[in-house]
Order: sequence, then C-alpha cells, then structure tokens
Amino acid sequence: MSLIVVGSVAFDAIETPFGKTDKIVGGAASYISLAASNFTGSTKLVAVVGEDFPQAFIQHLQHKGVNTEGLQIKQGEKSFFWSGKYHNDMNSRDTLATELNVLADFDPIIPESYQDCEYLMLGNLTPKVQQTVIERLRKRPKLIVMDTMNFWMEIALDDLKQTIKMVDVLTINDEEARQLSGEYSLVKAAIKIQAMGPKYLIIKKGENGALLFHGKEVFFAPALPLEEVFDPTGAGDTFAGGFIGYLAKTGDISFENMKNAIIYGSAMASFCVEKFGTERLVNLTEEEMNTRINAFRQLVKFNLASV
Ligand code: AMP
Repeated sequence: MSLIVVGSVAFDAIETPFGKTDKIVGGAASYISLAASNFTGSTKLVAVVGEDFPQAFIQHLQHKGVNTEGLQIKQGEKSFFWSGKYHNDMNSRDTLATELNVLADFDPIIPESYQDCEYLMLGNLTPKVQQTVIERLRKRPKLIVMDTMNFWMEIALDDLKQTIKMVDVLTINDEEARQLSGEYSLVKAAIKIQAMGPKYLIIKKGENGALLFHGKEVFFAPALPLEEVFDPTGAGDTFAGGFIGYLAKTGDISFENMKNAIIYGSAMASFCVEKFGTERLVNLTEEEMNTRINAFRQLVKFNLASV
C-alpha cells in the first residue's frame, strides 16, 4: 500500500567521537524514504531542496523506487542545513546550527498521483507544514505517523500541539517526551501525550530501545547491541521509516502488528548508525535485513519455565 513521506531533505555536518564530516546528505525524509523503500514499492516523497542539492542522491532515491514527483527544487535557494555534535555516550547531542533556508517558506505540493495514499509519515519539519499536508489530502489516510523534535517545541509549541491532535502515532525521544509533557516519568508522560490526541505513542531511547504506548498497554523493543556505533544521526528517522514501511506493506495497523513494525524499525535503525549519514542504508540487501531480524529474535527469546 502506498505511503507519503514528508520531511526535511537536507545537508548535515556531523561530529562524533570517531570523526567529523563536511556537508553530507541527510534530512529526516531522506532517511525515512530510504528505510521505507525496503518494504513498500510505493513510497512518495514530499519535500523541498535548493539548487545546491546533488541530483545523484535524488536519482538514488528513484532507483530505490521512491517517487520524487513531490520534491521541489528551488532555483537560487539553499537547502536546509543542520549541524550536530555527539557527546561521548553517543546517545545525546548538541545542535550546533539549524539553517532553515528553503524550509522557511516551504509550501508543500501534493501531486495528484499521491492523493489516494493510505499511509502518511510526517517526518521532522515545521509543524504548520506537516498540518498543511494533512489538509491538502482529500481523503484522510488510514494511518498518520508524526515525528518531531525539541527545536519545534521551543519555537512553535502551539502549532505543534495542533498538529499532534490530528495524528494517530507520535514518535519522539525520551527527552522530548519529558519536555512536551512536563513529566519525568515516561509512563505519566505517555498518558499526558496520548490525551493530546495520538492514540499511540512511541518513545525512542536511542541505544536503550523504544517503547510503544497505547492506552494502558506498553511494548518494549531493545536496540541491538552493536560493536560499533559510528553516527546515530537519522536513527530515529530510519526507525520511523522501517516502522511505517512495514505497516504499509502488511496493511495491518493493529497494536499487535505495530509491535512487529517496531522490531523492523529497530533493525533498520541498527544499520543506519554503522556508518556516517545515509551511507549504510543506500546498499542494504534483503539478506542483511533478514539476518538482523533473526538477531533480534535471538536477543529477546527465552524459555521461562513456570514457577
Ligand atoms: P534524527 O537523528 O533521527 O533525529 O534525525 C536527524 C536528521 O534530522 C538530520 O539529517 C537533520 O537534517 C534533520 N533535522 C535536524 N533538525 C531538524 C529540524 N529542525 N527540522 C527538520 N529536520 C531536522
């Protein structure tokens, strides 16, 4: 089933304890589309870049089966730029620069061929633009998943709350869940955030896995312990792409199937962090994916004798 992905397509400059990059391709929607394209052959991108953005990456997305008809290229303008520096634990980072450039006045265009989409992934982006995309779809998708970050909580909280009201699943990290709810306990935070609109909440905890909340139900998925974590940038987006891609592939949005989707999302994220930027996602094979899903199975499998 088809999936629309909206979000930043950008340049990033990243610093980790293992190295530093110049401007490389990043952006929430880049990671989401690459991850989702492993599950659904009908991933449709809505985004904006400047004339400085490499055509080769756009062609690469197309190779992976991503429809880029909704990707606007603004002549004479610069792409969104983000720069971040990771702390030694690699689980937290500081944003060094956020230059909105083309994102500042992004007016999303939904091509006619996108209109029948059943799944919508609102990747990290100005909340008002995320809302505009929902409003420009003639039929409400079967499932709307939204990601956001502290940056928008700080500069556009009212818009953010309005957009959150319109979605089914919200994905944020633990720090952001605390910031949005004003609660330290993630269980209390989850109750408050669900009361803001979304029936499902995913709280990402980096190398400590992810939690899925729905009413009183909770599911936990660990992150795969890896020998090397090179660059966590995009892990959250890759997770979201795997999550919604799997749901779109199976067409089943029950809580039980969302648990499977979380495992697929976590598996995709485990690849993302192994190299800088989108590099590891670009040539991922089906065999590698299956091996990793099996590694997850082994990680959490145990035979508990009854006591
Ligand atoms: P993640 O590591 O999953 O949180 O996502 C990192 C990606 O988000 C980077 O590739 C950035 O380009 C992108 N990003 C960072 N800040 C923003 C923002 N304020 N709006 C949209 N995208 C952003």
